[in-house]
Amino acid sequence: MMTYEIKIYKIWWIDNDKDLYVGSTKQILSKRMSHHRSDCRCKKNKMKLYETMRENGYKFKYILLDSYKVKAKDEQLKWEQYWIDKLQPNLNKYNAVCKVTKNDYDKVYRKKNKERISDYQKEYRSKNQCKIKENKKNNYIKNKEKFIQKAKERYQLQKEDIKIKRKEYYIKNREPILAKMKENADIDKKREYDKIYNQKNMIKRKARNNERIECKCGISYTRANKNYHFNTRH
Ligand SMILES: [Zn+2]
Repeated sequence: MMTYEIKIYKIWWIDNDKDLYVGSTKQILSKRMSHHRSDCRCKKNKMKLYETMRENGYKFKYILLDSYKVKAKDEQLKWEQYWIDKLQPNLNKYNAVCKVTKNDYDKVYRKKNKERISDYQKEYRSKNQCKIKENKKNNYIKNKEKFIQKAKERYQLQKEDIKIKRKEYYIKNREPILAKMKENADIDKKREYDKIYNQKNMIKRKARNNERIECKCGISYTRANKNYHFNTRH
């Protein structure tokens, strides 16, 4: 749904703390004010606001109280009512419809100020890194037993969950898990086989290299030393 911005404003007079009006508008405030002025000039308009404007010589002040993103008119009226309840303006003849709950207000306030709050927290954290670390450490030392106990409890609680989750995962993925296990077993088998093969082969190779050969020159040499024998003796 499309949202649009509305502004809540108040109209007031210098040297007059009794008269006050709260309104809401989609328009930019100066435009809304010029509409108020032209409505006010129509003497037939008996709204308390306009009669007061006329009495005070049209010289009113206005100020933006807050702005909100809303989806519909009734939401706009809710915010208007919120400010009417808050400021109790005497020139608002009617009460806007349903009330804004504190919960609504807090939610919107937090959202509006989220960036500002998180900027502040970031800045605070970066300025106070050492202090925060130190505090954390001290807090840990002070409450070590409690922390350890809590961690244990958490682990015990999670242990059962983890077991169940693993089981569920296994049941769901039995085929690929078994395939993977078989693959791994095959790889292990092949490794074991290669190891034994290499060992056997090495023994054979050693035996062959140590084999003695009687040369025509009357001296015997081992097969490994054949080249050496021929290079030095012949
Ligand atoms: Zn020889």
